[in-house]
Amino acid sequence: MNYNVDKKGYYGEFGGAFIPEMLYPNVEMLRENYLKVMAEPSFKKEFHELLKDYVGRPSPLYFAKRLSEKYNTKIYLKREDLNHTGAHKINNTIGQILMAKKLGKTRIIAETGAGQHGVATATVCALMGMECIVYMGEIDIARQAPNVARMKMLGAKVVPALSGSKTLKDATNEAIRDWINNPVNTHYIIGSAIGPHPYPDMVTRFQSVISEEIKWQLKEHEGRENPNYVIACIGGGSNAAGTYYHFLHEPEVGIIAVEAAGLGIDSGESAATSVLGKEGIIHGCKTLLMQTTDGQITEPYSISAGLDYPGVGPMHAHLSKTGRAEFMSITDSDAMKAGLELSKLEGIIPAIETSHALAIFEYKQFKPDDIIVVSLSGRGDKDLNTYIDYFKL
Ligand SMILES: *Cc1c(COP(=O)(O)O)cnc(C)c1O
Repeated sequence: MNYNVDKKGYYGEFGGAFIPEMLYPNVEMLRENYLKVMAEPSFKKEFHELLKDYVGRPSPLYFAKRLSEKYNTKIYLKREDLNHTGAHKINNTIGQILMAKKLGKTRIIAETGAGQHGVATATVCALMGMECIVYMGEIDIARQAPNVARMKMLGAKVVPALSGSKTLKDATNEAIRDWINNPVNTHYIIGSAIGPHPYPDMVTRFQSVISEEIKWQLKEHEGRENPNYVIACIGGGSNAAGTYYHFLHEPEVGIIAVEAAGLGIDSGESAATSVLGKEGIIHGCKTLLMQTTDGQITEPYSISAGLDYPGVGPMHAHLSKTGRAEFMSITDSDAMKAGLELSKLEGIIPAIETSHALAIFEYKQFKPDDIIVVSLSGRGDKDLNTYIDYFKL
């Protein structure tokens, strides 16, 4: 079984490029060039130098002793929270801005929901001195004022999306419209392992530095490269794709994907795509997504902004369908509890997205000598107000 993308841009039955005809030249240019560019020594050198000196990689692989004792198994945390800007998203935006430069682009557009991807994009645009336009739903702009301020400080222009529900999907529509109107000089930086082919594969490859590092770091700690399990939370699926990548074809490594159940899978307020989703097209690819019986995309819900997405990337749809990955879903309340627990046991305040992945230890028993690696996708600073309100701190 192949879990990587095939020559036609599919993961099994999922993936592809379902795009308006006017976008075809942009996407085709990227498809023809991305692997060639990524293989160039000058590209690799610049990418790895920036990951090292600017992002702060390699991120540590930390043995969480007290957490391990509590759950009677061996838990390692891959510390993406220590990256510059506080999460894994920067790995991808660094890769894509270098790609844009190689393709001769001078202008960057992106869409953002909670603002995390917008900040990561604005950051690399400042770094490279490139024009940056971030589309964001009007409602999200009001909800996420600190991230809007960050983007502005970094020199980006934040453009409100005023149509529809004025949230992420409307911002996506605006970004696509912009790209159609500016096909020559503009690159569209997508923030997760989603979008038309080759985006899911390109984003996965940029994020795969996570599992590349886990291999040699685990060898140093444990004398072996493969853990028994790798675990990550899934919004669109980029930190998960990077964490799984070098283990996809190692059958002894179990893969666990953790989605947001929101207020509960059957509550109508959830983002548990693998359970509730059906095959459909979102963001230019065929994948699992939450929709009504007549195919309208359902508004998702999660307490964590980064998991509040109605679909999963096509790679994860395939991992779910084939059974290669075990999917679990975690409610808001279980995630919040797990976030507080990690803070108290290890002195690490995680992003609420990450807290979902940590919450599975209450539900799944591992063996005492199992080695588990959890992707600690981001730090909790951005979520402090949510933690304060929830726990009345
Ligand atoms: C954005 C985000 C996620 C979800 O995005 P993926 O593409 O699924 O990784 C998870 N954790 C953090 C900290 C995030 O900022």
